[in-house]
Amino acid sequence: MRLRFDDSVEAFRVELLTWLADNRPSPEEMAADPSVSTGHAPEWARRWTRRMFDAGWLVPGWPPELGGRNAGPIETLVYIEELAKARVPRTTNVQGLGIIAPSILDYGTPDQVRDYAMPILRGEATACLGMSEPGAGSDLASLTTRAVLDGDHWVINGQKVWTSGANYADFCFLFCRTDPDAPKHKGISIVLVPMDTPGITVRPLPEIIRPEHPDLNEVFLSDVRVPAANLVGELNNGWAMANGSLAHERGMVWVSAVMGLEESLDRLMAEAPGLLQRLTPTERALAVDQIVQVAIDTQAARCLGYRGFAKLARGGTAPEQALMKVYASEARQRVALVAAEIQGADAVEVGGVEMDGHLAVDEPQGTWLEQYFHSFANTISAGASEIQRNIIAERVLGLPR
Ligand SMILES: Cc1cc2nc3c(=O)[nH]c(=O)nc-3n(C[C@H](O)[C@H](O)[C@H](O)COP(=O)(O)OP(=O)(O)OC[C@H]3O[C@@H](n4cnc5c(N)ncnc54)[C@H](O)[C@@H]3O)c2cc1C
Repeated sequence: MRLRFDDSVEAFRVELLTWLADNRPSPEEMAADPSVSTGHAPEWARRWTRRMFDAGWLVPGWPPELGGRNAGPIETLVYIEELAKARVPRTTNVQGLGIIAPSILDYGTPDQVRDYAMPILRGEATACLGMSEPGAGSDLASLTTRAVLDGDHWVINGQKVWTSGANYADFCFLFCRTDPDAPKHKGISIVLVPMDTPGITVRPLPEIIRPEHPDLNEVFLSDVRVPAANLVGELNNGWAMANGSLAHERGMVWVSAVMGLEESLDRLMAEAPGLLQRLTPTERALAVDQIVQVAIDTQAARCLGYRGFAKLARGGTAPEQALMKVYASEARQRVALVAAEIQGADAVEVGGVEMDGHLAVDEPQGTWLEQYFHSFANTISAGASEIQRNIIAERVLGLPR
C-alpha cells in the first residue's frame, strides 16, 4: 500500500517549505542562544514566533488574525511533520502556545485575550501551566491552592510543583480551589497570575539530564494578590476547562511523538553495525531481535496514528488517539533502553545533552542513556502511562472501573 496526499496538500507543503527556507532561524543562530527553559524565549525565538504569526504559519488551522490561514487538519499534519523534519520549533514556550493561549481564546474575556493570549502568539510573552501540586498530580481535582476573593482582588495561597518554565515565564495559568465546600471537581477555578506579583517564590528542580538548565519548578504562593478580573471563564468551572485545555495539547501530539521515534530508530540503525560487531554471537542475535521489535513498534505507531487521524479528519471518533500517547512514549523509552543495553558499559558515559536551541521533549538529543532518562518526561507528563491505561480500559474497552 502506498499512502500519498492530494495535489492541493502537496502544494501547501511546497509553499511552507519555500517560506521556511527563506525565513527560518538558522541552526547556528538557535544553538548560539539556546532556550534554557520552556518559559524562556531567546531573541531569535521571539522574532521567529512573531514572523510565523505575521505570515499565518504559527497555527495554520486558525484564522489569519490569530496567526493562521484556516488550513484543514491534513495540512496541519503536513505542517507539523515538516517543521519537525526541519528541526525548528514553532515556539520555545510549548505550553503557552499549545495549551494556555488556546484556552484563553476559548474561555477568556476580550481583555484577557488582548493582554495574555495575543502576546504569546506574537512572541512577546511566555506562560506556564500551574496545575500539579505535591498532593495533586494524576488526581488533579485534589488540588488545594486556595484563591479567596477580597474586594476586587483574589488572594492566593498554596504550592505548585513540576511547573515547566515557571523560572522564566511572564505569567501562570493557575488552577486554584475557589469553593472548598463543593465536591472536589466542582470548586476549582483558573486565574491568570503575572509571575512578578509579590508573594511568588519559584524554586527550580534540577533534573538528572541538563541539571544546569532546570525546566521544572516548585512555585510557592503566599498572599499573592491579583485583580478579580483575572478569573478565566466561569467561577468554579475549572475542571471542565482543564479537560478542554488539555484537549488542545492531545490533538496532534502523536505526530511529533512518532517522528521522534522514527528518528531514534534511524539513529539506532545507523549505529547498529558498529555496536553489533562488539557483541558475542548470542548477544548479537538477541540484540538484532530487539532492534527488529523497535522497527515494528515504529511502523505500527505510524500506522495507528494515521488510522486514528483519518477517522478524525472524516469527522468520526478515534480510539487510536487514546492509545497513541502511551504507545509512542513507551516505544521511545524502549528504543533508548535497547540501544543503551547494546552499548553496554559505554552507555554510562553521560556527556551532557547537545543543545540545539530548544527543549522539545520529542526530539532525540544526547546519548542513548540520556535519552532513556529523558524519556520518562513523556511517559509521565500530560497523563502518566498508568492513567492512560485506565482511560483506555474504561472509555475504549468499556471495562468496569
Ligand atoms: C516533564 C514534565 C513536565 C511537566 N510539566 C508540568 C507543568 O507544566 N504543569 C503542571 O501542572 N504539571 C506538570 N507536570 C506534572 C505532571 O502533570 C504530573 O507529574 C503527572 O500528572 C503525574 O502526577 P504526579 O507526578 O503527582 O504523580 P502521581 O499522580 O502521584 O502518580 C505516581 C504514580 O502512581 C500512578 N498512579 C496514580 N494514580 C493512579 C491510578 N488511579 N491508577 C493507577 N496508577 C496510578 C501514576 O501513573 C504514577 O506512576 C509535568 C511532569 C513532567 C514529567
